[in-house]
Amino acid sequence: MTWVMTPGGKLHVGKIVCLVRNYRAHAEEYGQRAPSEATYFMKPSTSIIHDGEKVVAPRIAHDLQAEAELAVVMGSTARGISRNSSIECVLGYAVFLDITARNLQRSAIGNGLPWTLAKGMDTFAPVSEVRARGEVADPHDLEIRLRVNGVTRQKASTGEMIHRVPDIIASISSHMTLQKGDILATGTPEGVPTIRPGDVLEADIEGVGQLRIGVEAPSPP
Ligand code: MG
Repeated sequence: MTWVMTPGGKLHVGKIVCLVRNYRAHAEEYGQRAPSEATYFMKPSTSIIHDGEKVVAPRIAHDLQAEAELAVVMGSTARGISRNSSIECVLGYAVFLDITARNLQRSAIGNGLPWTLAKGMDTFAPVSEVRARGEVADPHDLEIRLRVNGVTRQKASTGEMIHRVPDIIASISSHMTLQKGDILATGTPEGVPTIRPGDVLEADIEGVGQLRIGVEAPSPP
């Protein structure tokens, strides 16, 4: 927990900032519009797990879902940075799964309450090893895919993102300082599946990496 593996070794993760509805088709499958401004929430670094580990499906999560996303890992501080120079603050990219207890999120939203718990429980942020920025020619021309038990559930191009990486960094850093080790999850395409204990999730992004994650029930109290 709380670290990612980079070409230079383990890097301590600070905050995890996650974009919402950054692919139009995903917003539409939930009957919502994509926001005109980059809009985001946060997960704690304690929700991180790594390749080969398992998401623990909490008893209170009746509708657990997995969203495959391209993650941007920050390599230096960005505060009020312009979109033109923001990419220089990126250390690299990784494959990320935004695990979501959708029933908790829906009920929180319905009651006008924060949905931190629905997104931030332990094991809710699987992340792959980090691929150096210089090895990824164009972060907006990559196939992103999620398979559950061998069946393809999400398949899209990162080119479908509404807000792109330089704009995301410029936008977030105009309000909150980004630091080395922070992770930005850039949103998910359509096809988000419900997952259950026993499932095997395989996410991959062309040229970035892959992530194989199990799902298990919590141990008895
Ligand atoms: Mg997401």
